[in-house]
Amino acid sequence: MTVSINAAFDSGNIEVVDATDPQNIRLRIRQDAHSDFYQWFHFRVAGAKNIPLRLVIENAGGAAFKGGWEDYKTCMSEDREDWLRVPTSFSGDELVIEHTPALDSVYYAYFAPYTMERHRDLIADALSHDGVSLSVLGQTLDGRDMDCLSIGEGDKTVWVIARQHPGESMAEWWMEGFVARLTDPEDDVAVEMRKKVRFRIVPNMNPDGSFRGHLRTNAAGANLNREWDTPTMDNSPEVVLVRDAMDADKPVLCLDVHGDEALPYNFIAGAEGIPGYTQKQADNLAAFLTAYKAASADFQTEVGYPETAPGKGNPSMCTNQTAARYNCLAMTLEMPFKDNANAPDEARGWSGDRCAQLGSDTLDAMAAVIDQL
Ligand SMILES: [Zn+2]
Repeated sequence: MTVSINAAFDSGNIEVVDATDPQNIRLRIRQDAHSDFYQWFHFRVAGAKNIPLRLVIENAGGAAFKGGWEDYKTCMSEDREDWLRVPTSFSGDELVIEHTPALDSVYYAYFAPYTMERHRDLIADALSHDGVSLSVLGQTLDGRDMDCLSIGEGDKTVWVIARQHPGESMAEWWMEGFVARLTDPEDDVAVEMRKKVRFRIVPNMNPDGSFRGHLRTNAAGANLNREWDTPTMDNSPEVVLVRDAMDADKPVLCLDVHGDEALPYNFIAGAEGIPGYTQKQADNLAAFLTAYKAASADFQTEVGYPETAPGKGNPSMCTNQTAARYNCLAMTLEMPFKDNANAPDEARGWSGDRCAQLGSDTLDAMAAVIDQL
């Protein structure tokens, strides 16, 4: 009776060092290609029904965000739909997962995975609704299509992009809820917004990194959210293609959706650090934040990143680049890997369903400010 561990699938990541002793299974997370970043893991354990497992990730202490392992619980699923949290501890060096599978096939992941197959389902489902079109902006380094949905006939353009950092799978769960709401013919807010706005939506900015099981980079090892000032087709075609499309269809609002490894809250980072940040941009951000808090009990403004000092904003990040380039309201949304500490869920932590609900609720916040943009 041997326990088998494998990650050779869409969005998988683990290396097996030694799986002979179920009470001391030794694992390592593989680095992103051409990069030192790693933290995303997603693997299957087979043949361990009713066997108590102690899975040790040996190189957790060297991961990109060590603080991400504190008070963290691993996601586990047997049916690949419902992801539950299982007991996990961090020694400072090693991450230890303790769980007894009830079935002969069980999956463990850093967060509920959002595979490229599910991405295809998201696109297909969106296109089944009236008034939704797909543009392929070009191809990635691994030859995957950069999918961009267009929804709505309005004069104003809103860009929404997600998952520049592919290990932040919560960003595409968010997209699923956002797109579902926006395409709902029975939803009054969505109907009104589609009249006022042309939405350009990139549900997955980093298909190669997503498939490869990367945390933070594309196939060339580029951190896409540090490429927006000088992207190149050799290193960061994803950003070149999307930024060119934005130049041709300039946003009044640009939202870039992410996840944060350490902070157990949903929050927004603005573009206050860019040179020439305007009062109008500040007022629009304040109005959006107020509306977002009203729209979602899971969104808050108490905890987040420290504000960037005036003029110190990094122009290689999407939010700063787009705020400066288009003089628009540009924001980065961060969601937790762990849980929302203000409304914890012991069983699931922050989950795909809650991401989708937050995505859906975001449309109310956009509706509240669209006329002033
Ligand atoms: Zn990110």
